[in-house]
Amino acid sequence: KRRVLSGVQPSGALHLGNYLGALVKFTRLQHEMETFIFVADMHAITVWQDPKLLTSQVREIAAAYLASGLDPAKATIFPQSAVPEHAQLAWVFNCVARLGWLDRMTQFKDKAGKHKERESVGLYTYPVLQAADILVYKATHVPVGEDQRQHLELTRDIAAKFNHDFDVPGYFPLPEALTEGPGARIMSLRDGSAKMSKSDPSDNSRLNLMDDADAISQKIRKARTDPDPLPETLEELKDRPEALNLIGIYAALSERTAADVLAEFTGQGFGQSFKPLLADLAVAKFGAISGEMRRLMSEPDEIDRILAAGAEKAREAAAPTLAEVKKIVGFWGS
Ligand code: ATP
Ligand code: MG
Repeated sequence: KRRVLSGVQPSGALHLGNYLGALVKFTRLQHEMETFIFVADMHAITVWQDPKLLTSQVREIAAAYLASGLDPAKATIFPQSAVPEHAQLAWVFNCVARLGWLDRMTQFKDKAGKHKERESVGLYTYPVLQAADILVYKATHVPVGEDQRQHLELTRDIAAKFNHDFDVPGYFPLPEALTEGPGARIMSLRDGSAKMSKSDPSDNSRLNLMDDADAISQKIRKARTDPDPLPETLEELKDRPEALNLIGIYAALSERTAADVLAEFTGQGFGQSFKPLLADLAVAKFGAISGEMRRLMSEPDEIDRILAAGAEKAREAAAPTLAEVKKIVGFWGS
């Protein structure tokens, strides 16, 4: 059976990378496979979140799911913390995963920076909880951005080691990361070597779904580029990461190939017509989504009803796995 699982953290403003790398794929996949999409509030608190804001941030992510086309009749949409089976399975997986495996996770190194001893233990073991998120539903396909590829490898390692150590061959599937697509790795507008992130302190580094037309135009106008004109081939852009990123964004938003977009602007500088046209594209795409998000967020009861119904369905799917795992591990009473 083919089953999709993915989620987004309510850790700040949703941006173009989340939209292209994740939301667009969810909407497509809901028609092809059984789909579970959660709001990752337990992952969000691996770094400090203001308790007074967290609930509304959760609703905002849910609104973004709905506004970008997820249909609650097709996809199960729920808050992670409403399904305790995730955390319960994560504990077992904490005892399956090895320290050496987690030590290799580059996202922890990127997020922790120089002072890793001051980060939460949760930030370190977050990929183990992620493995539980996926495997508690025995999901087979996980649509995510390129930045999550290493974590998906870890999920497969945990599944394989569990199946081996407890002598239950094939019990957990080895899920496949669906990272392909034109928006798989959107880079910061300020730094072509860093991915666009909710947690980047510079708001100018990203285009947020909720940004208005002025903010979008300004951020694109200020986006870092180089003074050289656009070349003929993508090959010639390989040492110009900021330029390559903007071409990629233009291509993804207009649903064309990067080569095709480049050909249109060959010989021009970025400021001439490329950036204004890119701004128009982004304003058109985001305007429709953010308008619908605002409308949905003005009806929080409606969002809560969808999340509660989703949580109930998710628990029904997750509970049997947890019961089986308890038996496999040999816990009392199982
Ligand atoms: P944070 O900085 O808090 O980790 P984030 O921007 O990385 O936030 P997540 O909630 O961690 O967002 O990720 C949600 C989904 O968006 C994941 O599938 C992730 O792979 C995808 N994603 C995040 N950033 C990008 C990006 N720059 N390009 C493409 N996909 C992305
Ligand atoms: Mg992230």
